[in-house]
Amino acid sequence: MKVHLTFDVEIWCNGWQRLDAEFPAAFERYVYGRSARGEFALPATLEILQRHGLQGVFFVEPLFSARFGAEYLKRVVALIEGAGQQVQLHLHPEWTDEITPPPIADVSRKRQHLCHYDRAEQSQLVAYGLALLRAQAGGEISAFRAGSYAANLDTYHALAAAGLQVDSSLNTEYEVSGADLPDRGNMASVREVGAVQVYPITLFRDGRGRLRPAQVGACSLAEMTQALESAATLGRRHFVIVSHNFEMLRPGRSEPDTIVVSRFEGLCRYLAAHRERFDVCGFERVPVGASVQADAAPARLPSTTRWATWRRLGEQALRRWP
Ligand SMILES: [Zn+2]
Repeated sequence: MKVHLTFDVEIWCNGWQRLDAEFPAAFERYVYGRSARGEFALPATLEILQRHGLQGVFFVEPLFSARFGAEYLKRVVALIEGAGQQVQLHLHPEWTDEITPPPIADVSRKRQHLCHYDRAEQSQLVAYGLALLRAQAGGEISAFRAGSYAANLDTYHALAAAGLQVDSSLNTEYEVSGADLPDRGNMASVREVGAVQVYPITLFRDGRGRLRPAQVGACSLAEMTQALESAATLGRRHFVIVSHNFEMLRPGRSEPDTIVVSRFEGLCRYLAAHRERFDVCGFERVPVGASVQADAAPARLPSTTRWATWRRLGEQALRRWP
């Protein structure tokens, strides 16, 4: 089974009121996350991947740099590519109205999600973001993930127009994700939407029977490894895990969340130890036909035990402890 270990990389400035005053500290926290125990934003993420010899995919949000300067995007991309990891495109269009000159004509109000923009606007935004990222990235950009998973049918037209053939935006646990797709409920691990091949975030059924996305910060290590085992047993060909550049940090702080750090370490150790079964790799367009069709059959979802889910609930209680 191919495992896609993905990270959405983005920078936020504590709201939109004091962007320029907040940015320097925000950049330091979101990119480096310095603390007495180490740098638990990108540096530790990259170091752990490298130590275990794993290939990750980093969906990097470039629009922030049109506000603050290309050199910031350059530093982010250099860190990731310098560690041998793959850079792909992530887009949070809520930056659109903060950029001068604006990349689209109508910036009269802040619109958070890509699906709030029409097809022509989405095409302009994707092309604009792609140009910003390509100006800094050495590797080829061929894959996309919408901010907040908020892709719709128009997004797939915009991606096709930009020549982006692979997408990993769907996470149907979010209402805004793929809302107008005709077979939205199809949880197949790879599917075609128009000319674009789509790898949804893997969903599994937790020990209480609830659907849960495979996200590092939101699953216990036991849930993640059981979901991986279960997906492999079901014959799934792809498993998409999501995390973020700041997922190992405590909310609003530059200190590591030790529970999430040990989950991520544990996940990487587990994937590295089971290399013969789990091929951790980037996104490539697979030939339409056998692989896509096999995965497109109404999929039984991977599942985990109650114990693994109780473990997560216990960890969450501990994480809320000050
Ligand atoms: Zn994002």
